[in-house]
Amino acid sequence: MRSAEAVVIGAGVIGASVAYHLAARGCGPVLVLERDLAPGQGSTRRATGGFRAQFGSQINVRLSLLSREKLVRFEEELGVDPGYRRCGYLFLASDEAQLDALRGARRVQRASGLEDTREVGLEEVVDINPAVRAEGLIGGVFGPTDGFLRPMEVLRGYVEGAQRLGVQFEYGVECAGFELGGRGRIAAVRTPDGDVAAGSVVNAAGPWAASLARHAGLEVPVEPLRRQVAVTEPFDELPEDMPMTVFLKDGFHLRVRDGRVLLLLPDEPDAADPFDQSVEDAWVRSVAGTARERVPCLEEASIDRAKCWAGLYEMSPDGHALLGRVEEIDNLYLANGSSGHGVMHAPALGQLLAEIMLDGAASTLDAHDLRPSRFAEGEANLAPRLL
Ligand SMILES: Cc1cc2nc3c(=O)[nH]c(=O)nc-3n(C[C@H](O)[C@H](O)[C@H](O)COP(=O)(O)OP(=O)(O)OC[C@H]3O[C@@H](n4cnc5c(N)ncnc54)[C@H](O)[C@@H]3O)c2cc1C
Repeated sequence: MRSAEAVVIGAGVIGASVAYHLAARGCGPVLVLERDLAPGQGSTRRATGGFRAQFGSQINVRLSLLSREKLVRFEEELGVDPGYRRCGYLFLASDEAQLDALRGARRVQRASGLEDTREVGLEEVVDINPAVRAEGLIGGVFGPTDGFLRPMEVLRGYVEGAQRLGVQFEYGVECAGFELGGRGRIAAVRTPDGDVAAGSVVNAAGPWAASLARHAGLEVPVEPLRRQVAVTEPFDELPEDMPMTVFLKDGFHLRVRDGRVLLLLPDEPDAADPFDQSVEDAWVRSVAGTARERVPCLEEASIDRAKCWAGLYEMSPDGHALLGRVEEIDNLYLANGSSGHGVMHAPALGQLLAEIMLDGAASTLDAHDLRPSRFAEGEANLAPRLL
């Protein structure tokens, strides 16, 4: 039987980051199992590439600040430009309640070490993003060091970095079950290619984390949530460095990537299959209408229907990652549930999980708020909607 000190299941950006950080810390042999034929074909390649530290909970702000530090050094450490660009995130409020939520989040951010966000009045909103129609808005908050990254480049950096350190990646191999040994431990990971004896196992299966955990008889509260992206034809009236612009009212947000505008508007999918990743025409019409109302120059932009896509967020009940050992199984660790922020937090989550696995606890920052047992303990994290 093959064996590895750590078996990571899932070669998305989070599994790759965990594998890299375990190897960089000198963990024994690490094996990554991925059922697709290449890394990042799950959620990672569908991410739009936003990076922000403007969150409404201390732990999410701190994860972003740690990730940001690591993104700044990424190329030096891993030889790949992760595409981190400080174009900013502009959050817009259309009433006092939304502005209050933004102000509350700013207090949390300052207490967590993020100093550079500022409240902006309407005049400054229009200075920062002249394309936005000011009517219906009362102000907002701007974070200049938020911005963008390239999800597949972050992934590539970690996969190649891990491989250089000896990590094995096996593609087209699905983890189909676990052999449970005595004393609440996984003895081996079952695959169609045979069992792999595992010192420890990491569930980094993204939106599929709950299905994977069920093979070990465990309920993990991570659910898929479809997010659709509408893409315009090439359009040069909005600059590439336009900040990510987010309307707090309904979560509508837009950015420019590679000369096209990406439009997103959260909705509640009513598809029978929760893993459905189709794009609905009615949704595309609705987001295009919203976009034209709020960013008038988009009247001139047409949607390239063939380029629109959808993917799955991996939602946890409190919108925060699940990171750490599960109570029920001694050598099973979770790194999932990032709820739509997994690319930006992958650098931090990988480092912290390596510390948890190798040292017993995270030391770079206190990751207690992310422990998987928090729901059973009635200690879920709190943050305002969309923050
Ligand atoms: C439309 C959209 C926009 C987004 N925008 C952003 C953004 O701007 N910024 C940001 O930070 N995040 C964003 N996200 C979220 C981000 O994509 C995810 O949080 C992140 O990719 C999660 O990474 P992961 O490695 O956990 O999951 P994945 O990339 O899904 O990787 C999980 C892997 O596990 C594999 N797997 C599952 N089960 C098994 C099994 N049994 N055996 C073997 N392999 C298995 C899957 O095949 C998959 O490759 C967005 C998501 C979507 C859908």
